[in-house]
Parts: sequence; C-alpha cells; structure tokens
Amino acid sequence: MNPVQYRRAESVEDAFPGAQWRLLGGGTNLVDLMRKGVEHPAGLLDVTGLSEEIAASDDGGLVIGAAARNSAVAAHPLVRRRYPMLARAILAGASAQIRNMATVGGNLMQRTRCAYFADAAGSRCNKRAPGSGCDAIGGFTRYHAIFGASPECVATHPSDMAVALAALDARVNVAGPGGTRTIPLAEFYRLPGDRPDLETTLGADEIIVSVAMPASPFAGASAYRKVRDRASYAFALVSVAAGVTLRDGVVDDVRIALGGVAARPWRALRAEETLRGTRPTDEAIDAAITAELASAEPLPGNEFKIELVRRTTVAVLSELRGTPA
Ligand SMILES: Cc1cc2nc3c(=O)[nH]c(=O)nc-3n(C[C@H](O)[C@H](O)[C@H](O)COP(=O)(O)OP(=O)(O)OC[C@H]3O[C@@H](n4cnc5c(N)ncnc54)[C@H](O)[C@@H]3O)c2cc1C
Repeated sequence: MNPVQYRRAESVEDAFPGAQWRLLGGGTNLVDLMRKGVEHPAGLLDVTGLSEEIAASDDGGLVIGAAARNSAVAAHPLVRRRYPMLARAILAGASAQIRNMATVGGNLMQRTRCAYFADAAGSRCNKRAPGSGCDAIGGFTRYHAIFGASPECVATHPSDMAVALAALDARVNVAGPGGTRTIPLAEFYRLPGDRPDLETTLGADEIIVSVAMPASPFAGASAYRKVRDRASYAFALVSVAAGVTLRDGVVDDVRIALGGVAARPWRALRAEETLRGTRPTDEAIDAAITAELASAEPLPGNEFKIELVRRTTVAVLSELRGTPA
C-alpha cells in the first residue's frame, strides 16, 4: 500500500497543489487510476468544499461551480430549461451513483478510457509514460480516435458533458498563483501531437473554478445523442451534441460537437459552415457531415465510426428541425 496525504482546501487560494499532489473531486476517476498504478500522487487536495453554486449570469447565461456534482447540474431547473443538451449529456454518462459523486471539474479533467493507458503493468503508453510507445496503434481500436490523432497517441476523451459544453461555446474559469483567467472550451483540450501526456492547457498549478455558458438562442432546441455498446453504463462510441435555429425554414445558426472521436470534443466547424443558410433536408445534413468527415482518419478497427457519425448527426439534426429522418 502506498501512503497518501490528504487535505481539504478551504478556499481557491488554498487550492494550488504542489507538483506531486493531485486535486481530488469525487475521486471516481482519480482513485481508480491510483488503484491501477497509473497515478501516484504524494497527496490529495480535496476541492469538493469549493463552489458548488449553479447561478444565472448577468448576460443571460449560466455559471456552474467546479465542485457542483454532475447529478445536481443535470437536475437544475435552469440547466434543464436553458441548456437541455447539457442535462441530457450528463445523464447519458456513468451511473446515478457515480454522477452523485462526480464533480464538474473532475469530469472535464477525467483521463482517457484507453485500455492501454489504464494497463500500467502490461502496456506501452506515451500518455502515461512519454516516449514508451503506443500499444493501441495496431491493437484494439474500437473506442479510439478518427480525428486529430498522432503517431504517438490515438486515445479519445471520454466526457459526455464536455461534448455538450463544446457545442455551447462554454468557457472554463481557472485560477492559479498568478491570478485568474478564462479559457474557451475550444482551447482547453490539446490534441496529442508529440506530447500526448499534455492533455489540456490548464497549468500544472492551476485549478478549474467554474464553467460559464453564454446565453444561446439555439440551446433551448438542442439535443445530445450517444451511441454505445450497452444501453447504459458505457462510454460513447460516438456522440453528437447539436443545436439549431431556423429562420423561414433555413438554418440561421447551428452548433455540432462530436464525442468519442478525438482527444477532445470535436466541434464539427466544417459541417456547421456548410449547413448555415441551407434548408436542413436529410441530403443537406448528410452533405455537411460528409464535408466534416473528409478529414477523418479511421484506424483499422474503427472505420465503422465514419458511418455512425454520419447517421447519428442526420438523426439528431432532423429531429431538431422537427421532422425526424
Ligand atoms: C464505471 C464508470 C463509468 C463511467 N461512464 C462515464 C460515461 O459514460 N461518460 C462520462 O462522461 N463519464 C463517465 N465516467 C467518468 C466519470 O464521469 C468521471 O469519473 C467523473 O466525472 C470524474 O469526476 P470526479 O469529480 O470524480 O473526478 P476525480 O476522479 O476526483 O478527478 C479526476 C481528475 O480531475 C482533476 N480535478 C478534479 N477537480 C479539479 C478541479 N477543480 N480543477 C482541476 N482539476 C481537477 C483531478 O486531479 C483528477 O486528475 C464513468 C466512470 C466510471 C467509474
């Protein structure tokens, strides 16, 4: 058994961990990884006593404290009314018990579910041990990336919540010894490149304080659909978060984010651009997502994700337009 120190943070200023320490949210991911020998912190700094507040912001948006539990966010009336896709994404994840423990900060920072990453005793992984190699490449890649991967790493990010937040143009408010700053969610996650061990742009001594979402005209008509191997308690093979506003039957604005396909929630910007100003027929939606998929690079073992992304996107957007495909 490895001894681990434990301390509760009393304030954000008190919550900047030393290099060998880790922040502890609900522990549903970190403690698992410690048991598996992937994480070896000298100490755990418990941040669940920091802000759990979920409150409307002056600009008509919403701010959610990093310590808010996933189940509290999904059940909150403002979230359900203003951002239904966020509630649906959270409820599509894990189990009720895990959502009761899991925090917003921990959900954003959870590590990949790549089986080779989790297998500290038997597999090579550049994310866990930089420079050691990647056994996923050439291995079992059903759950791995089709966008933005590198020769060093093909892992995906597992969070459902983050996919909805990407579609909602959320911002991550962080604090560190140098002060506070805001990181757009689109810039929060890194693609692996040659440093798959660096997963986010959060500094080593920074903490997530809250997540903010702007007011959104399309969020009220938004949806999240997750396709997985089991109906519950399974990570996404592919997921789609989308919202759309129509004017005179034409797409005025649209947001599409894909999960289960990259090391970060994948904003389908090319598809969005292709759809704006068109009538969202099945053919138009198909053409838009086909344009996005032109840059996909599936691995042997996950080519099926191309068709799955296409069909799921058509299904979600046709549902939002009011006439399911
Ligand atoms: C069986 C199982 C099934 C699951 N299925 C799904 C699923 O389908 N979809 C899904 O999205 N998730 C799923 N999860 C993952 C689950 O959502 C995460 O484990 C959870 O959200 C992590 O939150 P936590 O508060 O417990 O994080 P912790 O385990 O406490 O921490 C996770 C990471 O976040 C860091 N951290 C915590 N708080 C902060 C902060 N404020 N600032 C910066 N860093 C911080 C920690 O240091 C750690 O590195 C599943 C988990 C399990 C065990």
